[in-house]
Amino acid sequence: MRALLVLFSSMLALSLNLSTVQAADKLPVVASFSILRDITQQIGGDHIAVIGMVGPDADAHTYEPTPDDAKALLNAKLIVKNGLGFEPWLDRLVTSTETKAPVVTASKGVISHTMVDDGETIPDPHAWHNLANAKLYVNNITQALIKVDPANKADYTRNSQAYLKEIYRLLAEAKVKLGNLPAGNRRIVTSHDAFGYLGQAYGIQFMAPQGLSTEREPSAAEVATLITQIRKDKVKAVFMENIKDARLLQQIADESGAQIGGTLYSDALAAEGPASTFTGLFEYNMNTLHAALSK
Ligand code: ZN
Repeated sequence: MRALLVLFSSMLALSLNLSTVQAADKLPVVASFSILRDITQQIGGDHIAVIGMVGPDADAHTYEPTPDDAKALLNAKLIVKNGLGFEPWLDRLVTSTETKAPVVTASKGVISHTMVDDGETIPDPHAWHNLANAKLYVNNITQALIKVDPANKADYTRNSQAYLKEIYRLLAEAKVKLGNLPAGNRRIVTSHDAFGYLGQAYGIQFMAPQGLSTEREPSAAEVATLITQIRKDKVKAVFMENIKDARLLQQIADESGAQIGGTLYSDALAAEGPASTFTGLFEYNMNTLHAALSK
């Protein structure tokens, strides 16, 4: 009996050691928010362990980093950020921790929109909602992984190509589903201006009571102006966002007579279900818009 116990405990110790070794073998990567965490994971596969700072259904615009985030940046071999002014809190933390990890800007090469927000001209950071830009994200992250871990270049390249194939399939589907919406059904409302790139790609006009960032609450006068505009322009539908409280949108829908079109995933993945991956998020948004606007 005793011999068996010794045998069992040494087997347990061995398997624990093995799993520790396997985890330690993976390249530690930090991504600033859930959408980048997933894209990076798809490319890195089994070779990397990615930590996402801002989690699913959470708002990156108002995020405050934790001491664990600082530790993760110090331990990382690669840091992935969106850029275009989306994560000023990450830039500050990279500077203050003096981490040696290289930082890759996933949106590098994107032709950005600028918008006026609170009297200031700023770039629109939400570039991932156009899949043509997502292709650049995938290429930038793939090159960065290969640079820090050249031994696994073949796997990163293969994963990247398989992932791009899925993105091309969705691009073709979106061209049909969003490109052919009736002309009168192309004006909609969301809580914050996250979908400018999607709107530009498919000729859909998104309006929002909040600007590009979610940091500022709209005034009563701004909400009243939007409601008047919805009535005048015969806006088809109002959409909730997963990262935002739905009450304001509900009020706007009630007072303007616009229908509720469903929930769109803007700046974060869902914790579970179909929108819990980036391609799943795009497909979910595309199908939600199509269902509400194609009638
Ligand atoms: Zn946003």
